[in-house]
Amino acid sequence: MSDLLQVLMTRIASDGPMTVADYMSECLLNPDYGYYATRDPFGMAGDFITAPEISQMFGEMVGLSLAQAWIDQGAPAKIALAEVGPGRGTLMADILRVTRAVPGFVDAADVHLVEASATLRAKQQEVLGDHLTWHNTVDDLPEDKPLFLVANEFYDALPIRQFQRDREGWREKQISQHDGALFAGLGGHAPVPVLSHRIEDTNDGDMVEICPAAGPITNAIGTRIEQNGGVALIIDYGDWRSLGDTLQALKAHAHVTPFETPGETDLTAHVDFEALALTTPSAYSKLTPQGVFLERLGITQRAQTLAAALSGEPLDAHIAAHHRLTHPQEMGNLFKVLALFPKGGTPPPGCET
Ligand code: SAH
Repeated sequence: MSDLLQVLMTRIASDGPMTVADYMSECLLNPDYGYYATRDPFGMAGDFITAPEISQMFGEMVGLSLAQAWIDQGAPAKIALAEVGPGRGTLMADILRVTRAVPGFVDAADVHLVEASATLRAKQQEVLGDHLTWHNTVDDLPEDKPLFLVANEFYDALPIRQFQRDREGWREKQISQHDGALFAGLGGHAPVPVLSHRIEDTNDGDMVEICPAAGPITNAIGTRIEQNGGVALIIDYGDWRSLGDTLQALKAHAHVTPFETPGETDLTAHVDFEALALTTPSAYSKLTPQGVFLERLGITQRAQTLAAALSGEPLDAHIAAHHRLTHPQEMGNLFKVLALFPKGGTPPPGCET
């Protein structure tokens, strides 16, 4: 039995069944045994690959959108350039490289990283060098200057709770233990006020999810943007309103069952972007498919420029990466972009209202 499985069994034995959110939180971030706390899971050799790890073009387009938004807001002299959940630091490295071509942007920016994992903080320092400030939560981001922020595949790692509807109301999915194994069941009926608006669009047997941490995080980001200016680009897989069980576990690029090997697989859930939009005091854009966002920013022209210097296998890989990021049947439509920006302002390039 793994150490984390032992910890969870002991906890369930003493406190009773746990919510899916508590389970996810332990699996991902337990300081001793959690998935992100103990490893660098990215890349071909890891369990999954994210857009910035697929091609430098992703970070370049994000960087250009942020820098153009900075120019559109009058090129403020001091800004916080922030990333939540920076992983290996690849996305921020690409943003900083491409925006060096935008006079004044990098000089105006202090880089702030919100990262829970000590292992990944060390990796980020290695890639990005000095002059970084890390925070445990978005609440510690600066409140005295404009905030230009990106979150890629961050919200999907936040713990969710799952509720199943039946004739009498909602029952929450919970994790129990039996004979040395964990299993998922349903708790008793209980009122769930935050789901009152979901009665109209669900049927008996449907599962809905809520992400309790997502609202306060979005509110903290949106409050800073509304007060001091800036923009946020929130990029993730999901949709405007969640329906169904979207919890998934990935190991070595394959789907596995979420409750079997706690701490050893990446656990994610689709992001309910409506829930984010409802909690920000700032303006927000239409939900934009990632492929559309990248095309609007000129990824195809950029891909052609880079292709001119390539041939053979690297050229094939480059073309495949462009396709993977943008094609509707790959990441182009599954992943979406929601931009936050000040009320009365304009959305960052790539997004529309
Ligand atoms: N943005 C990166 C990594 C995505 S993986 C990329 O696109 O490649 C999720 C990242 O969020 C990891 O860096 C993980 O350690 C971090 N993370 C997960 N939950 C967190 C939390 N509650 N607070 C801060 N960071 C968190």
